[in-house]
Amino acid sequence: MIDTHTHIYTEDFREDEAEVIARARLCGIEAILLPNTDVASLPDVLRMCRNYPDICRPMIGLHPTELPESGVAEALDELETQLFADDGRLPADTPFVAVGEIGMDLYWDTSREDEQRTAFVRQLEWAVRAQLPVSIHARSAHRQTLDALRPFADDLPGGVFHCFGGTADEARELLETCPRFALGIGGVLTFKKSPLPAALRVAAPLNRLVLETDAPYLAPTPYRGKRNEPSYLVQVVDHLARLYEETPEEVRRTTTATARRIFRLPAVPAEA
Ligand SMILES: [Zn+2]
Repeated sequence: MIDTHTHIYTEDFREDEAEVIARARLCGIEAILLPNTDVASLPDVLRMCRNYPDICRPMIGLHPTELPESGVAEALDELETQLFADDGRLPADTPFVAVGEIGMDLYWDTSREDEQRTAFVRQLEWAVRAQLPVSIHARSAHRQTLDALRPFADDLPGGVFHCFGGTADEARELLETCPRFALGIGGVLTFKKSPLPAALRVAAPLNRLVLETDAPYLAPTPYRGKRNEPSYLVQVVDHLARLYEETPEEVRRTTTATARRIFRLPAVPAEA
């Protein structure tokens, strides 16, 4: 299994991150992808990837709700310097597996829509230049996100609509517009009365889904409301298996293959 989007580098995990990683390994997680959210959180992401280099991989981006009050362009300048070498190219030994998390979020606040779009587009340009996939956060902004993304869809090597929570029509539209993208599926799938399972079943084949926790948020049932962690992906896999009438092993295999392809992660050799 691969946790394609998680924030276990935050304060919430400082006390017991080694145990969290150990539990992830025990349940068969082979990679944990860490998106930063702003300039300040990038060192925490990179520290964790240095401490657990065989399993943690960093992303780099500016989250739409984490735009600084002023100086958005300067924050993006800073991140761009971290991503690219002086010649403007991606270094051959880059640790970054994706640009993320980036996108648009108009749920609480619509007043910065234009700034969000400008930041999103600039980071999509990085991803095309670097030929890195993207991890996209879209909340109450399906149309705006897709409109900004559409001109880049053919040039991006891949991506994930992280924490997808839309309708069947929205799922279809995203997957058709972006044929190399997948939907990121986590704890929300397991919530009682969630309309997500029904939407996925009609609109998204299993091979267009990847697993994610978005920890510490959105822990699956029966941990709902508690701190989430990568090992809880087991619950998400069980729900997907019932939903798609497949075995949990098949769900693991298919979602892992899709995540490896999108993020270009090497296949882990089977243990002797
Ligand atoms: Zn996130």
